[in-house]
Amino acid sequence: MSSLALYNTLTRQSHPFVPIKSGEVSIYLCGATVQGSPHIGHIRSGLNFDILRRWLTKSGYTVTFIRNVTDIDDKILQKAAIEGTPWWALAAKYEREFSQAYAALNVLAPTYEPRATGHITQMIEPMARLMEKGLAYSASNGDVYLEVSKLDSYLTLSHQKVEDLQSSTEDVRSESYKRDPHDFALWKSAKEGEPSWPTPWGSGRPGWHLECSAMIYAYLGEAFDIHGGGLDLIFPHHENEIAQSHGAGWPFANVWMHNAWVTASGEKMSKSLGNSLLVSTLLKKVRGIELRWYLGSAHYRSMMEFSQEALDDSSTAFRRIESFLFRATEILGKPPTPTFAPQFVDAMNDDLAVPLVLAQIAENLRIGNIALTNNDDKAISVAANEIRGALEILGCDPFDPAFASSAADLAPTLDGVIALALEQRNAARARKDFAASDAIRDGLSDLGVSIEDTPQGPRWSITPMEKR
Ligand SMILES: [Zn+2]
Repeated sequence: MSSLALYNTLTRQSHPFVPIKSGEVSIYLCGATVQGSPHIGHIRSGLNFDILRRWLTKSGYTVTFIRNVTDIDDKILQKAAIEGTPWWALAAKYEREFSQAYAALNVLAPTYEPRATGHITQMIEPMARLMEKGLAYSASNGDVYLEVSKLDSYLTLSHQKVEDLQSSTEDVRSESYKRDPHDFALWKSAKEGEPSWPTPWGSGRPGWHLECSAMIYAYLGEAFDIHGGGLDLIFPHHENEIAQSHGAGWPFANVWMHNAWVTASGEKMSKSLGNSLLVSTLLKKVRGIELRWYLGSAHYRSMMEFSQEALDDSSTAFRRIESFLFRATEILGKPPTPTFAPQFVDAMNDDLAVPLVLAQIAENLRIGNIALTNNDDKAISVAANEIRGALEILGCDPFDPAFASSAADLAPTLDGVIALALEQRNAARARKDFAASDAIRDGLSDLGVSIEDTPQGPRWSITPMEKR
């Protein structure tokens, strides 16, 4: 049996995965900056790392999974000012939208989901250590900067040279206060009308990079197993996290994993695409399980070019798999039991080779459909069990209660079915078949459906189960 190997951005190679503590895995994933509604580019990261988490759990590890919420940031403050909304109300609104999108796509809730603004005290600790060691300084504008030239190493993740970098452009106004243009802000001084918190170096608010280092230390300690995020976070965000945490004397992450983007017309998804790629918009066209299947279908390190046609084709393909599993369930009298074939285990252990898994599902579907034609129950069962096992790890198991239809989804169907029954009752009455008409009424009544005849026609209502 193979063992897990993961690609590490730090070395640009796959290595056998060895956790710090036997049997346990600690993961930190940079979560959303909650300044807008989630689009599929945002959600892909959470979804890719959810597949990793499910596979580690299935492999027997106890996984601690931390995904943060950045709820204070320049963009949040700017947008809140434009909309005339308190910044915290804006952040909370979009945080809820992200939570809903993750849930709709069956992305498991993190073990803990810390918000940046709830961890200011924890951010002061690494700042104090960096100041003590002479690696950070408080500038005359009240900002606190990390002095990157004082670090033993910098840019080890992105493999860049400091002299090749453009100077940081996070805030042009602050450039003249830095000792070196490559220094970055740990802490931003309080500005008129902006929220601020007190520190020994003056009031202000945290820089983005410091938030993650502090929350990682709070929940996962000085050293942890896997740090994840989107490719675009490698520089400057993750380099600066490393600089702060190493500077503070913490070993930090062992393995760095980065997911690629969803692109549209070859570009990283951006606001210019409007609302068309929002999770909420796409969920009006396809079911959550279908959107997840589509977004999870590429290898996490491969770019994914979005197109409506590709999404439609992917949904059609998924429905074929699903209908095979439902047929198999009818024939075998119970849902398939998830099983994990050796070739599936090998594929997942090879840096989560999802495209290979999809090929295995397609092959099992082909064999399963032949078995259906041949009434070969044994072969139906083997194929269905293996498909369900793979779907479970991909988070696309149609039997997962997470995807159960809600009452709201069922309402139009229920309305139609009851209308059909009432039509039959009226037809029975018209032909004076009162036995049939009474049987339909009694049958509906037994199901808790009561009918009221009104001048506008019959109306129905349902008595809740516990009140019957
Ligand atoms: Zn981060």
